[in-house]
Amino acid sequence: MSRIHLLSPRLANQIAAGEVVERPASVVKELLENSVDAGATKVDVDVEQGGVKLLRIRDNGSGIEKDDLPLALSRHATSKIQALEDLEAVGSLGFRGEALASISSVSRLTLTSRRADQDNAWQVQTEGRDMEAQVEPAAHPQGTTVEVKDLFFNTPARRKFLKTEKTEFRHLDEVVKRLALSRFDVAFQLRHNGKVIHQLRQADSELEQERRVASICGSAFIDNALKADVIAEASGLRLWGWVGLPTFSRSQADLQYFFVNGRMIRDKVVTHAVRQAYADVLYHGRHPAYVLYLELDPALVDVNVHPTKHEVRFRESRLVHDFLFRTLHRLIADMRPEDQMVDEASPALEQSLQSSVQPQQQNFEQGRMALRPSAPASGSSYSGGYSQQSYTSSNPSAGQVREQISGYAALHPTDDQAPSLPVQSLAQDEGEECSPMGYAVAQLHGVYILAENAHGLVVVDMHAAHERIVYERMKQSYEQDVVRSQPLLVPMSLAVSEREADCAEEQAETFKRLGFELARMGEEALVVRQVPVSLAKGNVEQLIRDVLADMLVYGESKRVQQHINELLATMACHGAVRANRQLTIPEMNALLRDMEQTERSGQCNHGRPTWSQMTMTDLDKLFMRGQ
Ligand code: ADP
Ligand code: MG
Repeated sequence: MSRIHLLSPRLANQIAAGEVVERPASVVKELLENSVDAGATKVDVDVEQGGVKLLRIRDNGSGIEKDDLPLALSRHATSKIQALEDLEAVGSLGFRGEALASISSVSRLTLTSRRADQDNAWQVQTEGRDMEAQVEPAAHPQGTTVEVKDLFFNTPARRKFLKTEKTEFRHLDEVVKRLALSRFDVAFQLRHNGKVIHQLRQADSELEQERRVASICGSAFIDNALKADVIAEASGLRLWGWVGLPTFSRSQADLQYFFVNGRMIRDKVVTHAVRQAYADVLYHGRHPAYVLYLELDPALVDVNVHPTKHEVRFRESRLVHDFLFRTLHRLIADMRPEDQMVDEASPALEQSLQSSVQPQQQNFEQGRMALRPSAPASGSSYSGGYSQQSYTSSNPSAGQVREQISGYAALHPTDDQAPSLPVQSLAQDEGEECSPMGYAVAQLHGVYILAENAHGLVVVDMHAAHERIVYERMKQSYEQDVVRSQPLLVPMSLAVSEREADCAEEQAETFKRLGFELARMGEEALVVRQVPVSLAKGNVEQLIRDVLADMLVYGESKRVQQHINELLATMACHGAVRANRQLTIPEMNALLRDMEQTERSGQCNHGRPTWSQMTMTDLDKLFMRGQ
């Protein structure tokens, strides 16, 4: 072992760079954040060879004082915080004061800047082990340009980890997209090897913002998303943005953008809350798409958790989880067929045809949530799974539903008690507004209902649609009653951790509402005496453990409800009207009316679409009318 010595500034910075500078994309992230923090309204990014050869970021922000230039390139130097207290409510994206120092220790970096009150611009570079700053005069308009050449030229180990130019550029592009989604008030341009990749103007109006979202996430996303804006008065939390329709799900979790106070983050509390909100409507293994912004008091979120600041810690994660879940759950439940219909007659559509973005707005819930009608749910290629089945015409009462559930759990299916289509004949002249799904004209091969509405033809998968209606009704009647529970023959004891036992004790009321009776039996033990009838046959121990784990992490658990819902869904599927059953016109109309009234009626219980619209324009195109 040799003697202890201080590391040279360059080496210390190179070590620090290991944490924040992984690849060209991380450099772009840091530099873009600096531009945004400097109040820039326009940022241009120029990239050569995936960013490895050259990265140039130019902004029109505040610029840097000549005398501060050397400091900007030194470690632990920042203009953004002064004291520890400032960390409690960080308003800027940066605050660690080490990005420029780190980047310049592993590349050839030049920083050129000019403040509005200075006559000319200055440029700084660092040299040698001590990273001594060299300041020279330069020509530059107000703002700052950072040029980073030959990234990792002096750290070959890092260089080896770089992927192909294409891959590096893809990462970098993703960073630009995130920043562009986080700040609509800033114009962004990205060029790669001289070619313009993104050209995004400032987006002030909602239409312009949607246009930006469309150009980043694809216009299919914006066409299949609802705009939301909800404020929780009490806690001061605000959630706004675009929520993808369940039918616009993805095979990857690649269209999920979540910003907390303008910072893109990945957080398990957030992910969990969103997944729960979509739980009942998403096809198995699919991922929802969303671009969402959460705004809250900066004091309620700790951003100093990770060097790259991709993670945050909510001081009140239960509150945040609850707010997110409730808001999104409500929003998804309230999606109605008419929200998905394009209003052909509206001037907004003509506008949207030019812009490929649909700007039309509708308000509901006292105007606090804004819903934008989007394109109709796309058709699915679902086939099969139909069987011929008869059913009786009894509507389920709450008690009956419960019996069916316990009956089902006890492996005595009572399918013959399944509900039928209610026939409430509705006069056709009640007006279009209340019948967005239109009126039945025919049934196709016993599978589809064809209906005529204001826009053209509506095709409904009658089994899928009825299944959802029955399911929602069963859930409702189930919820209206208390959960019936049954005592276990032999009380079950459960070894748990002290934290879990504390939690179980605290949440005894919640468990009781869910139909469990459990008590603490010591430091690290619980005893279970009663369980919900419907779950008596299941793995109760695992369920309770999972519920406790959820409660500890997220403050609540939806697992019991989910298990019950799964049972209800299976029953609904059996209870729903089968294919190859002839329906009368009034029966079909009753189903259409029910769809308009029912929560989540756009998807069946498995997340498949239940209906699709073919507008007159679609049909005209098909027959080349008017061309
Ligand atoms: P941090 O952003 O954490 O403060 P950086 O190393 O990224 O640390 O930047 C150091 C300082 O340099 C910043 O605090 C800021 O004062 C200044 N700075 C960096 N980039 C810019 C820019 N584009 N415009 C104006 N000032 C900048
Ligand atoms: Mg910074």
